[in-house]
Amino acid sequence: MLSIDPLTKPPDIDLELPGSKSITNRALILAALADGTSTLQGALFAEDTLAMVDCLRGLGVGIECDESNNKIVISGCGGDLNPNGKPLWVRQSGTTARFIMPLAALARTEILIDGDLQIRKRPQQELFDALEKLGVEATFQGEQGHLPVVINGADLHVEDLQVKAEQSSQYVSALLLSAPCMAEDMTLVVDGEIVSKPYLQMTLTMMRSFGADVEEVDQNHFRIRATGYKAQDYKVEADASTASYFFAAAALSGGRVKVKGLSQFSIQGDIGFVDLLEEMGAEVNRSEEYVEVCGISTLRGINAMMKSISDTAPTLAVVAPWADTPTSISGIGFIAHKESDRVTAVVTELRKLGIEVGNHGDGFTIKPGSIKSGLVHTYDDHRIAMAFTVLGLISGGIVLDNSECVSKTVPDFFEYVDRLRLDGDEELDILAIDGPAGSGKTSLAKRISSEIGLEYLDTGAMYRSVAAVVIKEEVDPLNKDLVVAIANKVKISFVGEEVFVDGENLTEVIRSSEVNAVVSHVAANPGVRAVLRRKQRSWARERGGGVLEGRDIGTVVFPRAKLKVYVTAAPEERARRRSLESGRSMEEILEDITGRDQIDSSRVDSPLSVSSDALVVDSTGKTINDVVEEILGSFNA
Ligand code: C5P
Repeated sequence: MLSIDPLTKPPDIDLELPGSKSITNRALILAALADGTSTLQGALFAEDTLAMVDCLRGLGVGIECDESNNKIVISGCGGDLNPNGKPLWVRQSGTTARFIMPLAALARTEILIDGDLQIRKRPQQELFDALEKLGVEATFQGEQGHLPVVINGADLHVEDLQVKAEQSSQYVSALLLSAPCMAEDMTLVVDGEIVSKPYLQMTLTMMRSFGADVEEVDQNHFRIRATGYKAQDYKVEADASTASYFFAAAALSGGRVKVKGLSQFSIQGDIGFVDLLEEMGAEVNRSEEYVEVCGISTLRGINAMMKSISDTAPTLAVVAPWADTPTSISGIGFIAHKESDRVTAVVTELRKLGIEVGNHGDGFTIKPGSIKSGLVHTYDDHRIAMAFTVLGLISGGIVLDNSECVSKTVPDFFEYVDRLRLDGDEELDILAIDGPAGSGKTSLAKRISSEIGLEYLDTGAMYRSVAAVVIKEEVDPLNKDLVVAIANKVKISFVGEEVFVDGENLTEVIRSSEVNAVVSHVAANPGVRAVLRRKQRSWARERGGGVLEGRDIGTVVFPRAKLKVYVTAAPEERARRRSLESGRSMEEILEDITGRDQIDSSRVDSPLSVSSDALVVDSTGKTINDVVEEILGSFNA
């Protein structure tokens, strides 16, 4: 469960958002099939793109990921795949499932393709019908037309193809992407209407960027030459669908959000979302380097046909209640077959929050109204979770039942949302105390908190609590996913000096040598940090401020804290003080604190470091009273 802290000030910010999922996954396919080594810059690292990376590796493609630089290097196979015989697991990713099927057929051998429950439920029959015409044998392991399936392309022969794309344009994109690596030229005719047309244009544009020769005979008729692909250095644009949530927040709050790395000439159809906000009255500034939205006091309702930009329909749906007239969204009946039934999800959840919504199958009509607080069911669908987060930014009391589903496309979504809150956080009374292990931060925080009448939070105790549960549940502290799951589920509460974890008093356990030995490994896990950071920020926002102590409070948690203090002392001095307090030997303590300091300062995510605007206090040889006085002097100045 995640309670969304509302904005206390309209945002006024420039954002650099993660790369586009659709572009990253297409580029991965193109680079994998190309002759030579390609580099993707600005690539998205999320569940859906990692699913694609895993599947391509399973097909024998060499891929090196450099997540901290958003870079992926792909050694293309030149159309000659060499599968390792293991099943391909697409997780929950629709693009991976669809794009990988014709590609797997090129390997001309049996390959099992499977994924999570959610993707098994999603229909794929039209794609299988087309593959069958190419001589590909599909043997369903469960329900007909669904994953899991064994694809066998041993009899793959090129034929002029027809495919239906009424449910998803991804079927057409999937066939187009692999077509240049078939033995002969191919013609593809789309039977009936195509939904989400801009995605098809994106596929064609990107194929051409990688050297393909595709002729659009007419809008439903393509001729693809068997040229193969050439490796490229490719720059991935920022994700326009992700940007929609931030643009919506700007429009609703009367703030300003500029998304960099997103051009008005983007190849992503979802950039069209800002046209709808503009029609509702928001101001939109467009350029080749960025797109910016500024809100106004009252938006007006519109009739929006969103067939080609349906991923952003839930975003527009959460903007609609604030308009002064009803908003009608149509042309999106097919989104009932996305990660969740998005038509039903949007209608049900908005109604739960007191909004009058008409469901007309092909979309919905949303009347203006005031939002009640409540628990929103996200249906394990990232777009529902992200859209309703925007609603929670504007209207207080919104809680999501499951927020982790955002990692499908934007693992750091809530971190980006927190950037919108930066200006508001500046108004909080925050005193941040950071420093290495055993530097006396907790004693200082307690003393100062009582002097200035602000509550204090020992954030180290939160990391220790997660570590204690990891040990109790016998989970490997280095197993990233399991440890993050624990961080998400534990309930940590403080009663006076005591720490309760899931109702159990663990005050002493969290200070044990077992916890000391693993806590820094647990704290180096970015997923754990994201979860605890959120809790720390909410804690302070609820109270209007506080004294928070830890390792990254002034650098990352509250970079706009009123005062940042970095307390330190020589390691021997720290160990000596701890030894006097605890009765443990100096050597043991010295080993513990220097070991943790080393891990805490060298981790990639929010390492222990001195903020350039921090008051640095070396407490070696000073009494606690001296230090308290020094800090209070600066805080009150
Ligand atoms: O402050 P304390 O020594 O109790 O913290 C225990 C551990 O928790 C640290 O060594 C560090 O690994 C982690 N921690 C952190 N970030 C914080 C607070 C603590 O990484 N803000």
